[in-house]
Amino acid sequence: MATEDVFKKLISHSKEYGFIFPSSEIYDGLSAVYDYGQYGVELKNNIKKYWWDAMVLLNENIVGIDSAIFMHPEIWKASGHVGAFNDPLIDNKDSKKRYRADVLIEEHIAKLEDKIQKEVDKAAKRFGESFDEQQFRTTNGRVLEIQAQIDTVKNRMVQALTNDDLDEIKQIIIDAEIVCPISGTRNWTDVRQFNLMFETKIGSVSDEANVIYLRPETAQGIFVNFLNVQKSGRMKIPFGIAQIGKAFRNEIVARQFIFRMREFEQMEMQFFIAPGTEMEWFKKWKETRMKWHKTLGLGENKHRFHDHDKLAHYANAATDIEFNFPFGFKELEGIHSRTDFDLGNHQKFSGKKLQYFDTELNKNYVPYVIETSIGVDRMFLAVLSTAFCEEKITKEDGSVDERVVLRIPAPLAPVKLAIFPLIKKDGLPEKAREIQKMLMFDFNCQYEEKDTIGKRYRRQDAIGTPFCITIDHQTIQDDTVTIRHRDTMAQERIAISKLREFIGDKVNIRTLLQQLA
Ligand code: ATP
Repeated sequence: MATEDVFKKLISHSKEYGFIFPSSEIYDGLSAVYDYGQYGVELKNNIKKYWWDAMVLLNENIVGIDSAIFMHPEIWKASGHVGAFNDPLIDNKDSKKRYRADVLIEEHIAKLEDKIQKEVDKAAKRFGESFDEQQFRTTNGRVLEIQAQIDTVKNRMVQALTNDDLDEIKQIIIDAEIVCPISGTRNWTDVRQFNLMFETKIGSVSDEANVIYLRPETAQGIFVNFLNVQKSGRMKIPFGIAQIGKAFRNEIVARQFIFRMREFEQMEMQFFIAPGTEMEWFKKWKETRMKWHKTLGLGENKHRFHDHDKLAHYANAATDIEFNFPFGFKELEGIHSRTDFDLGNHQKFSGKKLQYFDTELNKNYVPYVIETSIGVDRMFLAVLSTAFCEEKITKEDGSVDERVVLRIPAPLAPVKLAIFPLIKKDGLPEKAREIQKMLMFDFNCQYEEKDTIGKRYRRQDAIGTPFCITIDHQTIQDDTVTIRHRDTMAQERIAISKLREFIGDKVNIRTLLQQLA
């Protein structure tokens, strides 16, 4: 099935099973805003806990904060967001659709890269074992020609974005003959800059002075609290401050479900270090964050690094961890070496010293910063899109059945255990309730007695519950139950007294953290 169709199915599955609803749906929705349902919120909380614990529990030099969404408006001048948090937008006059001009160009580059890949795949088939990909890429005429086109477009784009040259950005789109995916035409407007911050007013008097912004990132709340945390926690450099919270961006184009939202959540950590040590820490955090992703086991080839060609105004090194979403490799997390840009500017704009006295070096300095920044919602999409699976299963009588199963890593699964009495009599429901009462303090458990066991399994598969236990007549006699595994559908008999440990070993976030430590 085409990946586009799978993505559509995933979106409707998310809604049907209480993971994600369009916001304000009874009023026809609000573009690029979503609500998390009863299972979505559990999965989201588990993702956040995995991140928070990996940062704050596993590192004695990282602490967390929770800063306010509203901040002094000067902060966004100091951070550069008032002046430079813009995206270049362009409209197609025929379809009336709006695009990010840089994204149109990036997608054009991705198409050219696909063309090269196709040439490589074809040649690999033709030459078999003796194929040398590296040699092919550096000598094949067709590949070299496409690569030259890519390099030209990339170089021109980096130059144009660096110089804020909007005319040149439009010219690149025209020269590359990029068409609107909807109308198929090249009838483009000029490129304009568009600031992504939402504005609102604070207080009761509506004049200019009262304009404030909804934060477009959580990082600035960390920077302005740098000294508060450092002093009150007697923190010594190197140390980090972690935060999870909402961020808001008036995104120009928001068409990919929860990948690009106007209200979303970030998990950010700023790591304060001595100037000159940033490349060493940048490397360390790249490795640490990749390990965090890989430990979830979403798949060997699902992640890759993408180093930035054009660095943001604050960075001297930057990379993205990209994930292979249903629509291709896209940014999941950013890791940036932010130098002393933020603290330095807050010092300038606020007039307050934001320095650290390093007792080892015996001097004062404005610390440098390595930032790791990941979107909770994008992580949610990465987990859910990998977990979603439609399967055909052959039953004992030879007939073929289908199931939709969410193979969510067990420590992130919304419900850990479903408890079923085989039938609704003979004391089985009472026994099942007893087990639920015993385990509900440890795991998110669900009790279900309606429908056949088979149907109950399907419902739990569809929300990704890793374990189901069935209480039958034997349970009353010997205090054992059958436990059924979501992924293999295998069943085994286990003593009730062993359940807590058996399930706990597989579903606790601790099991992931132990692999990281
Ligand atoms: P993009 O290039 O996709 O717009 P970005 O480079 O602007 O992303 P950052 O400013 O580095 O993103 O934000 C850090 C992280 O926050 C991103 O890696 C992403 O996971 C998440 N994020 C950013 N914008 C959005 C959004 N509109 N919706 C959901 N998550 C987002």
